[in-house]
Amino acid sequence: MTRRTPHLFEALQQTMMACTQCELSATRSQVVVGEGNAAASLMVVGEAPGAEEDRTGRPFVGRSGQLLDRLLLEVLGMSRAELFIANVVKCRPPENRNPSRSEVATCRPYLDQQIELIQPKVLLTLGNFSSRLLLDTSEGITRLRGRAYPLSTSYGSVIVVPTLHPAAVLRGGSTRLDMVKEDLALVAQHLCEVAA
Ligand code: URA
Repeated sequence: MTRRTPHLFEALQQTMMACTQCELSATRSQVVVGEGNAAASLMVVGEAPGAEEDRTGRPFVGRSGQLLDRLLLEVLGMSRAELFIANVVKCRPPENRNPSRSEVATCRPYLDQQIELIQPKVLLTLGNFSSRLLLDTSEGITRLRGRAYPLSTSYGSVIVVPTLHPAAVLRGGSTRLDMVKEDLALVAQHLCEVAA
């Protein structure tokens, strides 16, 4: 793993792993901090860990994650090791309920710090949760997806590409699958542009 600021990144990981700032810390098995290349051009942001993620301590390892891996490889030619995958909320909400507003507010600074340290060029947000949060909108994912949004950060501009959550694709069939593939093609286009 290549890291721009290894000590800061490591310190952040340790802080997240020891976090007890919200009630999710009482029911989690493990903190799912995220994984991949900490200097990646592409960062993928999901919602919160599920049962399998809580058990293994790794993001997106259940059925949704397997679909995500397949699509990232198929459309972008990228494996997990080349990008960074994290969630908005780092601990599993019990019974897979939605994270509460206060849980999101408490955990958000961790995501912001991850983005600041990784400095991705493109952020792929999966589903309503992360897309609305990072784009600061209440618009739904089906209206948001299909385009790219420039976002200002302290290190410069990052392109946000919102798409459907893979769990929604698993429930929704080929139309949703095609939508995600279109959005991933947008990601590919922007990654090429920033690499040029
Ligand atoms: N869904 C998410 O949003 N994140 C995970 O890590 C797993 C499932």
